[in-house]
Amino acid sequence: MLKINRTPARLWSWGYAILFLGLMLVGKNGLRAEPGNAKVDSLEALLEASTDDFEQWDLCTQLFLEFVYSQPEESFGYADRGLDIAQSMGDDSLIAQSYVNLGTARIIGNEYSEAILYLTEGVKVAQSIGDSSLMIRIHVNLGAAYTQLGNDERGIRELEIALGLISDETPGGFQVAVFNNLGAAYTEKEQYETALDLFQRAKPLIRPWDLRRKAMNASNIAQIYNYLGQPKEALAPARESIEYARESGTSEQMVAGFNSLADALEDLGRYREAGEAVDSMMVYAELTAIPNIIETALGGKARYLESTQQYKLALEAHKKLMEYKDSVNVANQEESIAELQVKMELSEKDAAAELARSQTELERQKRLRQNNLLLLLGIGLGVLAVGAAVLVIGLAVRNRANRKLREQNKVIADKNDLLQRQKEALEDLNREKDGLIGIVAHDLKSPLNKSLALIQMIETSGELNPSQQQAVDMIRKSNTDGTQLIRDLLELNSLEQVESKQEKAPVDAREVIENLAATFAPEAQRKQIQFHLQLPPESLTLHTHRLSLCRILENLISNALKFSNSGTSIQVEAIPSPNQLELRVHDQGPGISPQDQQKLFKKFQRLSAKPTGGENSTGLGLAITKSLVERLGGEIQVKSQLGKGTSFVVSLPKAN
Ligand code: ADP
Repeated sequence: MLKINRTPARLWSWGYAILFLGLMLVGKNGLRAEPGNAKVDSLEALLEASTDDFEQWDLCTQLFLEFVYSQPEESFGYADRGLDIAQSMGDDSLIAQSYVNLGTARIIGNEYSEAILYLTEGVKVAQSIGDSSLMIRIHVNLGAAYTQLGNDERGIRELEIALGLISDETPGGFQVAVFNNLGAAYTEKEQYETALDLFQRAKPLIRPWDLRRKAMNASNIAQIYNYLGQPKEALAPARESIEYARESGTSEQMVAGFNSLADALEDLGRYREAGEAVDSMMVYAELTAIPNIIETALGGKARYLESTQQYKLALEAHKKLMEYKDSVNVANQEESIAELQVKMELSEKDAAAELARSQTELERQKRLRQNNLLLLLGIGLGVLAVGAAVLVIGLAVRNRANRKLREQNKVIADKNDLLQRQKEALEDLNREKDGLIGIVAHDLKSPLNKSLALIQMIETSGELNPSQQQAVDMIRKSNTDGTQLIRDLLELNSLEQVESKQEKAPVDAREVIENLAATFAPEAQRKQIQFHLQLPPESLTLHTHRLSLCRILENLISNALKFSNSGTSIQVEAIPSPNQLELRVHDQGPGISPQDQQKLFKKFQRLSAKPTGGENSTGLGLAITKSLVERLGGEIQVKSQLGKGTSFVVSLPKAN
């Protein structure tokens, strides 16, 4: 295991990553023009002149490749522009490749974290379009980036993913990249068998023109044999490596090749040859001007001299190494300090910006909270105010409604009182009037009777001339009318004031109607009005007041005769039913208007129809009739149409 100390494995993985990336980027022909030369100028001119998106992207990529090693900052510009063009084209394949370019450029610029960010974006896009070759390329580069960051586990994992993606279709160059990088990673982990297997799988796939890679593969195999303690097997690949490196003109690879050869020769005890190899290694190491390589080579030389007991030379080599390390360290430290300074300033700026941002955010949130609080308070107060207003309005409305209700109740109560008082006053007045009517009627009856007696005396006392006879007739008529009025008034008065003391008895309505027809026959004849009785054969007997029944029918028949014209007819009809008897008086008179029908049964109603034969009309007849009907427990109805006659219908209970 001494050899591990002698040749740090990191050298190999580092060498691999760079070489691999270089090849990946430069493409098939492996050519790389120097910036500022004719090729770059023509590419830039073409780019300025181009109007085609893809062409522009392609030219950007080419220019990026031209600059990526020599002027990484310049190359980033082209890579960014390429990404912009790819994104505007919406071409995922170009977008993914652009991300890979950006990631690769960051690796070359030793900005591994940024590289990982770009590559991770790239792998997402490549995955979405199922481009496994591109995914392999990205995972290999991710592996390199993680390894450079010291995360070997993750580096190996990325490379294993790439390994898993390899298929027969995977381009040989991609497979080689995976095998070589993974081999380097396993070498670092001291898993030499696995590493050897991977390097050997890569070997036949390397294209014949790719001498640099052939050199690297061979030196790796040689070094693994050294690590495995098989220096004999290491010799051939070590020499092979030096040949390829010489042909391709790569100093780094010459160092690697001579290093492996020196180790193998030393292990085999061939110190002189080993010493020559170490010297050659030193020459090429200094040619590379790469500090790591020079340092490793110096270390290797010192250890070789020590192990071959050339202590004086070994001491010088060590001193040289220390001096070199110091100078590199100083340079590195100066560089690191400058870098740190920049980083610190940047981070301070970031921190200040972050602080300002968070303060603004805090302020904003505070304001927001205050606003919210105020809003909530406002809403709360608003709700309270609205609630209070609603309550107050509600109460006011209720109070007003209550007050109005109380006022209305009072008005109603007052009106009721008034009505009650008016009713009582009216009743008093009515009673007074009835009393007065009674007195007047009673007191008028005897003078009228006396004047009637006097008229009869005058008529019987001697011959009267025609004009005297006419005057006497007129006096008799007035007298009769007055008597009639008084009779009606007194009758109505008695009906209203006192209960009839009359006893009910069986009354034959047929007999009553036939008697009345006989009584009114002369009058009907005088007015040339036909009288028809329509009485069914069955019994028309009622248990009732005979006189009242007579008066009811007399009133209705006399009205029919009174208001009808000559040439018409009157029909009296009786319709018995088990419990009642319906008596109808139809005429063909003028009829009664609906308005008149409303007033018909009230007292002193002399309405539109006038007596047609000079008969007396008091307007009391139907009031008396209705009153009598009701006393007998029956009811009266009128059915009439103007111009089409009138029918009065009286329904009386047969017994009650
Ligand atoms: P009177 O017959 O003494 O006028 P009523 O009370 O019997 O009083 O009748 C009131 C009014 O009703 C009459 O003046 C008359 O205008 C109308 N009337 C009553 N009966 C009839 C009828 N059969 N046809 C037309 N009008 C009638």
